[in-house]
Amino acid sequence: MVTTTGISDRYRIETKQLDMPPRLLLGPGPANVNPRVLSAMSISPVGHLDPTYLALMDEIRDLLRYAWQTENELTISVSGTGTAAMEATLANAVEPGDVVLVGVKGYFGNRLVDMAGRYGGDVRTMTKPWGQVFSLEEIKTNLENHKPAILALVHAETSTGACQPLEGVADLCHQHGCLLIVDTVTSLGGVPLYIDEWGIDLAYSCSQKGLGCPPGASPFTMSSRAVEKLNNRPKPVPNWYLDMTLLAKYWGEQRVYHHTAPINSNYALRESLRIVAEEGLEQRWNRHQQNAEMLWSGLAELGLSCHVDREHRLPTLTTVRIPDGVDGKAIARKLLTEYNIEIAGGLGELGGKVWRIGLMGYNSRPENVLLLLDALEKVIK
Ligand SMILES: *Cc1c(COP(=O)(O)O)cnc(C)c1O
Repeated sequence: MVTTTGISDRYRIETKQLDMPPRLLLGPGPANVNPRVLSAMSISPVGHLDPTYLALMDEIRDLLRYAWQTENELTISVSGTGTAAMEATLANAVEPGDVVLVGVKGYFGNRLVDMAGRYGGDVRTMTKPWGQVFSLEEIKTNLENHKPAILALVHAETSTGACQPLEGVADLCHQHGCLLIVDTVTSLGGVPLYIDEWGIDLAYSCSQKGLGCPPGASPFTMSSRAVEKLNNRPKPVPNWYLDMTLLAKYWGEQRVYHHTAPINSNYALRESLRIVAEEGLEQRWNRHQQNAEMLWSGLAELGLSCHVDREHRLPTLTTVRIPDGVDGKAIARKLLTEYNIEIAGGLGELGGKVWRIGLMGYNSRPENVLLLLDALEKVIK
């Protein structure tokens, strides 16, 4: 028999009612959220097999197809953040022994290398200095040298602020019998992106960057070419939670229970995608471009320079070189504590060298650009 001494107050802690500061999130994500999204998120959850929830899932799939410009049947939201959707992509695409070529030109390229290796891929890399992108010619040469089953590229490298051009890449891949995976985490909802027209086979994203939604449910899409590879696997996908052959039965007509979906995160995702559709993709992409250009010229007026060539600069994330003799961390700290504005420092190779400024989704607005430039000028002086 177990004897206890009863409930101990040792484990009791004193807490106050939640009160978070009103930050302006101008870093690499999360970004601030349209109040409409927060309000959708606070609606009471229904069951994950409730007919009204199943109808909402179908709406998410249609709204995602619009945002991504795709007809892919297997277009869903993965439960978890962008990294879960990234893991889902690799788990379902990579079979042990597949040659997987990864374009590494920043932090997230390295994460793809790590994950593809864990799923048994024979991983090869092509690299570029952080802040640059691959030319079509370089991609062609590497496809010819490595003859991969899969090429994985990051469209919008959030660690560097560079946008990888994708037109023509899939044609090369498909000529070589290779599938194309694209990380669209910082491009979906902010940067021109055409899944079908560009021939992308698998793509994933997140909710808290260009879509302007809290983190939690992450877009995923897969072409029929990729589904065919999946269906021909001799062994099951080695990740049960993210196995698309199982998830497709929950998101498809069979509605087979798999796991309890994060209901409220999907309420939020639906609302943020509705906002994307209402605004219109072209309008939204233009808005991101215009506000980024306003930021870039304001930075130039402050004597600051951007790390990425103008031609390949992302509108959703700008890397700014920290001038010699300036303590980058101290400036970011001051912006946060004195102005409630969050920006980020550099990652990896760019650590200590750049600030990262995000203008994503709901946050991509002229008044935010002005607030930041004004605060930055004051703290740098
Ligand atoms: C943020 C990010 C991820 C990871 O997404 P999380 O939502 O943080 O898990 C992956 N790739 C890129 C390019 C990102 O910017």
